[in-house]
Amino acid sequence: MDIIFFGMQGAGKGTLGKAVAKKYNMQLFETGAELRRLSAESSELGHKVKSIIDAGHLVDNAVVMEIVENFVQNLKPGVSILFDGIPRKIEQANSLNTLLDKNGRKYRAVLINISRETALKRLTTRRICSVCKTVYPADYQNDACECGGELITRQDDNPQSIETRLKAFEEETLPAIELYKDNLIKIDGEPKIDEVEKTALEILNTVMNEPSN
Ligand code: AMP
Repeated sequence: MDIIFFGMQGAGKGTLGKAVAKKYNMQLFETGAELRRLSAESSELGHKVKSIIDAGHLVDNAVVMEIVENFVQNLKPGVSILFDGIPRKIEQANSLNTLLDKNGRKYRAVLINISRETALKRLTTRRICSVCKTVYPADYQNDACECGGELITRQDDNPQSIETRLKAFEEETLPAIELYKDNLIKIDGEPKIDEVEKTALEILNTVMNEPSN
């Protein structure tokens, strides 16, 4: 069973995705991380993707779908996928569902719910490790990551880009989530991340034991 993780920026998708993928031996597909890797390449496409990400806009569907298709098609048989950050709009939801159906994959969608206020608070105060990319909330006191890496602010966690990203979520991703509403699992993302993680793992226990691919 594949899982599609939805949530407003700052909902904790990345952290929860890692925990769930680890527990159920799933392959994590982190769309933002894949695109940031592409944006670091010194090619015309790399530069274009970087400017789109830094401004908080969505990268072209064709670019995103090529990466995800590659990922799905090169996976070992029997391995489940946890999708983080895709789909982000209706067009992408249709492309992703077609891809998964074509490959005979079963999937469930999960929404981690937070308010816009919480998203804003978390995005403007969080830091990430420059090496392993672990995300640290405002109450993390140290200046270095547990891996020793330097903690930095993500380039697109600036007020203007945050506003653009939240608007894209509300205008483009929420309508895409609607497509999954009949079978959507909702998790409250407001509590502290450890608590949300515990709830998420409990809820997903049932889902992951449903008949799979
Ligand atoms: P994230 O790490 O999920 O917050 O994503 C960072 C940035 O990558 C987003 O603000 C977009 O610019 C881009 N991005 C991530 N996922 C997608 C997607 N599914 N479609 C288009 N652009 C995306």
